[in-house]
Parts: sequence; C-alpha cells; structure tokens
Amino acid sequence: MRLANIDGRAALVQDGRWVDVETATGGAVGCDPMAALTRLDALAGVTVPADAPALDPARLGPPVPRPSKILAAALNYRKHAEESGLPIPARPALFARLPSALCGPADDVVLPAGRDQVDWEAEIVVVIGQRARHVVAADAWSIVAGVTCGQDISDRPAQFDGPSQFSLAKSHDTFAPLGPVLSTLDELADRDDLGITLRLNGELLQDGRSSDLIFDVPALIAAASAVCTLEPGDLLFTGTPAGVGFGLDPQRFLVPGDVIETQLEGVGMLRNRCVSA
Ligand code: ZN
Repeated sequence: MRLANIDGRAALVQDGRWVDVETATGGAVGCDPMAALTRLDALAGVTVPADAPALDPARLGPPVPRPSKILAAALNYRKHAEESGLPIPARPALFARLPSALCGPADDVVLPAGRDQVDWEAEIVVVIGQRARHVVAADAWSIVAGVTCGQDISDRPAQFDGPSQFSLAKSHDTFAPLGPVLSTLDELADRDDLGITLRLNGELLQDGRSSDLIFDVPALIAAASAVCTLEPGDLLFTGTPAGVGFGLDPQRFLVPGDVIETQLEGVGMLRNRCVSA
C-alpha cells in the first residue's frame, strides 16, 4: 500500500493513480494523513480504479505532515563517517529535527539568506505506526507503518562551527522534503536492503543501500524508544550514505537553481529545486 498526501488529504496510490481515502472508504477512514497511517488494516481492501486521476507531483505534500517528532541518525554509513573525518559512533547518534522543516516531494528548498554552505543528504525514513516505548530490536519492525524518502538538508557551518548544533542546522523551513509516498513494508523487496540515490542536476552523487547501515532500523528504534515514547507518525531519518557536498574534493554546496533528485527503491523520487530566500 502506498499512502500520499494530496492537497492535505490522505490518498491511496497505485500505478501512478490515486483515490481519496475518505471517499474510497465511505468515511470509515478520515481525510487526515496522520490518522490514515494508523488505519492500514481498514485500507487493505481499497483499490484504485484504472480510470482514477493520475498523480500530480505538484499537489503532493509530505506523506506524514505533522509528526510529533523527528529523530535522525548521524554518521550511520561507514564511508560517510570517513568522508566526514569523524570516528564511527559506538552507539546510535540520534538528534532531533523540527517537524516544521517538512515539505512536499516537489517543493522548493529555500536556501536561507547569507548561508553559502548548505548541503544535501539523501535518507531512508522510517514511519512509526504505533505508540511504543522500550522496544527491543527483535520487535522493532512490528511498530513500523512503512518507509518513505527524505532529505536532511544541512547548513554545515551552523552544524559544526562553535558548539555543535545539528538540530537547528538541519531544521530550516523546507530542509526536510519527504515523500512522494509512504510505502508499507509489503511493498518492499527487502526492507533491510533498500537502494537510495541522489542526483544533483542529473549527476549521480550518492548511491547507497540500507544493508550498509552501521546501526540498522531495529537498532535505531530500540535506541530512540529507550529515550522517549514513539508515537504514530513519528519519523526516523536513518542517516545518509557517502557523497555529500562537504565530503567532495573540491567541496560543493547547493546554489539557487540546483535540482536535487532523491530516489528510494520501493518508494519513488523527490525532485526539489533550490531557490534563494
Ligand atoms: Zn542526515
């Protein structure tokens, strides 16, 4: 099942076409995308007619628009830790991002005024499906609603200069494009081995697989839920593979007009244009 947010309403997507969830279920499941992701059982029998309207990326919002929180893993791919010049963490290095940074899969990324080292990070994003606390790794996938694709756009000087400040450096408005859909786990060929790529203006710069994660999804969920209660719709960004701009030689950063294409196997592609504030 693939869930989307079309004009702010929950929609079910199949083969590039969509139906409104509230309409298709006769009101049994409401229009709020946050509520729909907790009603996957009720949506299991819904099909999208062959003559349903085609998906228009411009109408898509983030498939999870209002998570109670976003947690993100730093340095979770070996080669990315190496290109960052930082040691591989001994335990999951989680930080928080602000939900207000979320935007849709075709929205513009706004480069803040005066910030000239803004970088890309393609990431696999796990969507929590049920309230949970102290989850052991062996049970972790059972609380997951699905996965989606995300960007962890990062203001590098803000992140590293002076007191390290990951959370705000990665939380400017529009720094977290998300989508295009939330794919449930049955849509994935192998939930532990998903391919993710990033192209900047068509050039392939990141090409990773989740089987290379240092801390896998169950380990991240166990670490997060040891600290806080996870709620339905909470997002877990799982870290970025090698190939970010500040790890390149020479370094590269985002400029107005750049087009970032982030693609996740089993989910689809984000296509975000960078604009100046
Ligand atoms: Zn990241």
